[in-house]
Amino acid sequence: MRCVRLHAPRDLRLESAPDPKPGPRQALVRVHSVGICGSDLHYYEEGRIGSNKMTVPFVLGHEFAGTIEGVGEGIDPARIGQRVAVEPGTPCFVCEHCTRGEYNVCPKMAFPGGPGHDGALCDFMAVPAEFCFPVPESMGHDEAAAIEPLAVALHSVELAGMRPGDTVAVLGTGPIGLLIAMAARVSGAVTIYGADLLPYRVAAAAACGVDHACDASKEDTVEAIFRATGGRGVDVAFDAARSSETAALACRVARPGGTCVLTGISGAVEDPIPVEVARRKGLTVRWCRRFRHNYPRAIALVSAGLIDVKKIVSHSFPLERTPEAFALVSRAGDRVLKASIDF
Ligand SMILES: [Zn+2]
Ligand SMILES: [Zn+2]
Repeated sequence: MRCVRLHAPRDLRLESAPDPKPGPRQALVRVHSVGICGSDLHYYEEGRIGSNKMTVPFVLGHEFAGTIEGVGEGIDPARIGQRVAVEPGTPCFVCEHCTRGEYNVCPKMAFPGGPGHDGALCDFMAVPAEFCFPVPESMGHDEAAAIEPLAVALHSVELAGMRPGDTVAVLGTGPIGLLIAMAARVSGAVTIYGADLLPYRVAAAAACGVDHACDASKEDTVEAIFRATGGRGVDVAFDAARSSETAALACRVARPGGTCVLTGISGAVEDPIPVEVARRKGLTVRWCRRFRHNYPRAIALVSAGLIDVKKIVSHSFPLERTPEAFALVSRAGDRVLKASIDF
């Protein structure tokens, strides 16, 4: 089969690899669509995310969807032909965290598209059949691939313990921030503030339902949100940026007693947090680690038309043009939000 392998930062090559075979309880999925994620971009640009560093070439991609073309032992062959969104990552299923339902933090998680585990930028993936979630015919493969970042957004909103009528700030209105804004809205957010350094992403925020989008390249985000909220701050502040500064901003724009959810990945091992601000306000700060149990609800929300993931997919490229797609996302060219590889 074909695959696109990362050999070194900014060095992606179209190569071939043996076709995988589905093992027990696995499905063989023909991949049709892979979304490029901010985390893929860290490997593409830096060859690492914090301490997780690439040592040998590997295949990127973990936001994917396709069609089941084969099944391993123990899986009903009637599933062949199903169009599915695939929840990436195979936890061990038996450790303390897995049995508690918190499988997203399983220490033995095998997550595709990171060092040591080839990802989905290839023709076939063998994955646990229970993580292959059927999607309706009306949902495009690119939309089905975007269920993955939507699952991240839903998990973020759940961690916030949002209540109807909450005010929200989303720092960083790239694809994840926009999906968080949409997820926050259906969770009852009454006013959503957004901020981004890229003017076209400020405009995208308004198009995705953000009520007040702040151009952080021109105005101070904290001042803008304080002005708009009469100095109170917001109930929930989400950090959805690839920045070392936004965790601190989230703490500053949250109201006393409010909640911060840190979802963005800066790529650094340590980022500054204003502990005095956080302590005096008595903030609850939570970190989002991917998702757990979110796929069925993400698919239901999109199927019901309550969240439109098409709003974040701005570009489509065939597999052989993957290097071009990464270069575009890396330079934030052509007003790109999410680039999708469709094949
Ligand atoms: Zn992702
Ligand atoms: Zn486990």
